[in-house]
Amino acid sequence: MKKWIGTDESGKGDYFSGLVVAGVMVDESTVSKLKELGVKDSKRLSDSRVEVLSDSIKEICPNSVVSIGPERYNELYSRLRNLNRILGWAHARVIENLVTQTSCELVIADKFGNKRYIEKALMEKGKQIRLEQREKAESDPAVAAASILARDGFLKELKKTGDKIGTVLPKGAGIEVEEKAQDLVKKHGEGILGSIAKVHFKTTQKLKANYSSPQDSANWEEAERLDRIWAPWRTKYIFSPPAEECIFCSAVNKKDEEAFILYRGEKAFVIMNIFPYNNGHLMVAPYRHTANIEELTREEVDSLFKLVQKSVKVLKAKMRPQGFNIGMNLGKVAGAGVEGHLHIHIVPRWNGDTNFMPVVSETKVISQSLEEAYKLLKEVFENE
Ligand SMILES: [Zn+2]
Repeated sequence: MKKWIGTDESGKGDYFSGLVVAGVMVDESTVSKLKELGVKDSKRLSDSRVEVLSDSIKEICPNSVVSIGPERYNELYSRLRNLNRILGWAHARVIENLVTQTSCELVIADKFGNKRYIEKALMEKGKQIRLEQREKAESDPAVAAASILARDGFLKELKKTGDKIGTVLPKGAGIEVEEKAQDLVKKHGEGILGSIAKVHFKTTQKLKANYSSPQDSANWEEAERLDRIWAPWRTKYIFSPPAEECIFCSAVNKKDEEAFILYRGEKAFVIMNIFPYNNGHLMVAPYRHTANIEELTREEVDSLFKLVQKSVKVLKAKMRPQGFNIGMNLGKVAGAGVEGHLHIHIVPRWNGDTNFMPVVSETKVISQSLEEAYKLLKEVFENE
């Protein structure tokens, strides 16, 4: 029987709260059930209808929902500076979860940016799939069902975000949203936006321009002067490099905990692979920016390999994996994500992990486990 997966996202046009991506697998029999229920593009349905339909779809179809809260969204945005890369990553997670559950190989996604954003973000398991991106993909029943789960997930996130500060947050990015944001800044200070809204939206800039009270505008200016770019949600990311800058070189100049550096050796260092993060995925790179393994000095080779040993030792002690994949990709054609600065990947493996890690479907959990894992490993590296 023909079966396929549809994916869609919700929240990318809403200033408040984060972003939700969902996927639904359908086959010929579930498609007719979805039609009977009246499943169609969530944009053509009321919020209450979306909620009811979402429950029914979850009963009928295999599905996966990845939810990125506002804080996590702002972190990702300040690092990647590109919504399409965030979307590509989140769609890829949803696809992987579903491919793992269902072994379905055809995926239809709505067209945003470039197909490569999703493909690049897909890992082992996901790569076996056939990905079709379409304009107006919502006419496909699987994509329509996914749009409903994504919208429902987003509306719940929006409510949760509002509940945190005891208010109801409006949808979209219009006048009502601007006024609400202004009130909230008055009440809680400008820092609040980082934990409730997508701060890269123009709304944030407008808000700043509109701000009238002299004391408050002095505060805004002070914040701007200190941070250069206005990024109150998390000062530790204000110095993140533009995407085209070498991530290894720029990490070296940051504080360990800002860059997730676990250990600095003589000629090389150990850093966590934070994007996408999989449990225990580490990288070892020389300090020197070079793409050519044959140009490494004897000391650099020693330092690199010592740190690989050390990493394996630490991961064995703290995460108890049953095996490791260790290796390098040299050159884009070989799959190198960062081409110009060579690095060795160390990926712990557990029995039964389907790709890199038993699937984690909630991005917030990933974010939390990333920082926890960092603290856990950092301590051992230092005492090792
Ligand atoms: Zn470099």
